Amino acid sequence: MAPPMSASTFLKALKDEGLTVVEVGDWRTHNRNHVGAWGPVHGVMIHHTVTRGTAATVRLCRDGHADLPGPLCHGVIAKDGTVHLVGHGRANHAGSGDSDVLRAVIAEKALPPDNAADTDGNRHFYGFECENLGDGKDPWPEAQREAVERAAAAICRFHGWGAPSVIGHLEWQPGKIDPRGFTMDEIRSRVRDRLK
Ligand SMILES: [Zn+2]
Repeated sequence: MAPPMSASTFLKALKDEGLTVVEVGDWRTHNRNHVGAWGPVHGVMIHHTVTRGTAATVRLCRDGHADLPGPLCHGVIAKDGTVHLVGHGRANHAGSGDSDVLRAVIAEKALPPDNAADTDGNRHFYGFECENLGDGKDPWPEAQREAVERAAAAICRFHGWGAPSVIGHLEWQPGKIDPRGFTMDEIRSRVRDRLK
């Protein structure tokens, strides 16, 4: 159980972890707090965007679309490893997921199958969208993988969490397949090493 970081603290944590960060527009106050709660926070969620091109990807994640208003995450991790901050606060990224999974994340235990959609994830997870087509063929450059590792580790470090607090969207919400192209165990292993 932890209150979310302030925008300034979030920015500092990412930079202190060695990331290149781009602040997009009014990201500090761009959120969905008017429609629901933000916090307590319990973990970090990783996604892929199914988009091509960093500028278009960042725009979509900031603005959202007709069916799903933005922000669609907090940070967009581009192919080159740059993190573009598009929102801070409640964001439309996690949707409804499994309360058993949330309990496991809080306890930092092995994850059960995500077979229920009974819990508001947008309230409880920081979210990073990664620029990738999600077709299993589009490459994930090492710079991007490392940025995923650093971003997740930065948040874990601040909150005193371990690598089990980092999950993929596919581990949270039934029917989701993202991120595709690496395993979350691989990312958690890298986060674990970085936090040592
Ligand atoms: Zn997702």
